[in-house]
Amino acid sequence: MDTDVFVAWFEEAARLVHHDRDRLTQLDAAIGDADHGTNLDRGLTEVRKALAESPPGTPGEVLAAAGATLIRRVGGASGPLYGSVFRQMGKSLESPVTLAGFSAAFEAGVVALERLGKAALGDKTMVDALVPASRALALAVRDGIGVKEAFERAAKAAEEGAKATIPMQARKGRASYLGERSIGHEDPGAASAALFMAALASVIV
Ligand code: ADP
Ligand code: MG
Repeated sequence: MDTDVFVAWFEEAARLVHHDRDRLTQLDAAIGDADHGTNLDRGLTEVRKALAESPPGTPGEVLAAAGATLIRRVGGASGPLYGSVFRQMGKSLESPVTLAGFSAAFEAGVVALERLGKAALGDKTMVDALVPASRALALAVRDGIGVKEAFERAAKAAEEGAKATIPMQARKGRASYLGERSIGHEDPGAASAALFMAALASVIV
């Protein structure tokens, strides 16, 4: 997994989020303030611009640049939260990147997210998609699964994690203000996290 693969990851994530922008915003309209799709679409457009303007030399630099841009450019909770995942991942990732190294860095990113957002599994946030994805990756490493298959499993785990937020009551973020009325809707951040993981699976050949 070289630098180009990481750039391609963010390009594909930008494409998927742009394609699903209205769906993400509608999910946020139900339990938030109807800006998640536009927030992330704008942020990832800025990430693509930043990566094109000063091309990073290593996978870690791609992640650091993406994280910093999301923190700076996305209004709303999700920018700093996603930004902290990618910044920490970038700090933790060593080159050359192996699946085991990626998995460990991803886990470090998720831990940084949990620390910043103080959300745990079951609180109906992006954590509910990212933690299962991280676990799926760790299991794939343990079992010696190939990279493509490992990322496909992570993407599936994230997608299932996002769908599993539907019956949950939100305990963090704006949706928590709704109390029981947050039940019955997929969390927008978990849905976008599933898109990030789908993008990763699709850029690996
Ligand atoms: P805002 O809520 O500020 O409008 P967004 O709409 O862009 O920001 O993002 C909302 C998403 O952010 C939620 O669906 C949830 O997944 C995630 N989120 C909000 N607060 C937290 C938190 N404390 N920890 C983890 N994720 C969170
Ligand atoms: Mg919102």
